[in-house]
Amino acid sequence: NVNSDGILTIKNLSKSFGGIKAVNDLSFSITEGHIHAVIGPNGAGKSTVFNLITGVFMPDNGEVRFKNRNITSMRTDHVAKAGISRTFQNIRLFPEMTVFETVLMGTYLITGGKVFPALFLTKNFRNNEKAAKERVEEILHFVGLWDMRDEYAAKLSYGNQRRVEIARALAMNPQLLLLDEPTAGMNPQETKELMDLFSLVNKQGITILIIAHDMNLVNVLSDQITVINFGEKLAEGPPKMIHNHPAVIEAYMGR
Ligand code: ADP
Ligand code: MG
Repeated sequence: NVNSDGILTIKNLSKSFGGIKAVNDLSFSITEGHIHAVIGPNGAGKSTVFNLITGVFMPDNGEVRFKNRNITSMRTDHVAKAGISRTFQNIRLFPEMTVFETVLMGTYLITGGKVFPALFLTKNFRNNEKAAKERVEEILHFVGLWDMRDEYAAKLSYGNQRRVEIARALAMNPQLLLLDEPTAGMNPQETKELMDLFSLVNKQGITILIIAHDMNLVNVLSDQITVINFGEKLAEGPPKMIHNHPAVIEAYMGR
C-alpha cells in the first residue's frame, strides 16, 4: 500500500537492462520531512531507482510523482528545477575548480556532469551574483568547508570531496536530497561526521532519501527503511522493524 500523499511516490516502477530486471514493479513513498533509506545488497537496483527518479533513465513501466506532479521521464535538469538534487555513488567533481566555484556552480544547474546556465532558482540568484555568493558562503560554513573554499575540490580528502558534492546539491535549494551511498569508502570518523551533517540538513526541512549498503549506518538516522533485492521490495518499515526482519537477514547473508 503506497501512501500517495508522500513528497515522492514511485509506483510500479520497472527497468530492465538486456535480460536483467534491475528494478521490478517497485513501489514506495517518502513522507515529507523524513530521512528515508533504501538498503539492499550490491546490484539490488538502488542506484537504478535514483537514476529513474532523476531522469537519467526512463522506466519501462511505472510512475514517479513528486509533490503530486508526474515527473516520470522528465529531463534531469527539469527534475532538479522541480526541487530534487542528488549526489552520485562515485563522486563527480571538476578537477579545475575550487570548492567555492564548484558550489557556486550548484546555484546554477548541474546534473549528470553537464552544466547548464542559471535557468531556474529565484530571480534574485539569476540577476544577483552577490546573493548567489552569499548563499555559497552560508552553505560552506554549514558543511564545514569555508576554510577550504579556495582549494581545488578534487584534491581534498575523500570525506571533504563528499561534502563539496553535498554543498553543491544544497546550493540548488532542493526540497528532496538524494544521497547514493554517501559514506561508502569513508573511515568511521568521516562516516559519523557525514551522518551528523545529514541530520542537520534534515532539520532544516529538507527530506532525504539515502541509499546505503550497510544497514547499521541508517538504523540510527532514518525514519523509514525500504529494503530491496533483485529490484523488488523485500521489506519496509521503521529501523526497529527492519533490523531483525528474516527476509532482510537472508538477503544479506545470501550474497
Ligand atoms: P545497486 O546500486 O543496488 O548496487 P544498480 O542499480 O547499480 O544496483 O544495478 C542493478 C542491476 O542493474 C545490476 O545487475 C547492474 O549490473 C544493472 N545495471 C545498472 N545500470 C546499468 C546500465 N547502465 N547498463 C546495464 N546494466 C545496468
Ligand atoms: Mg549503487
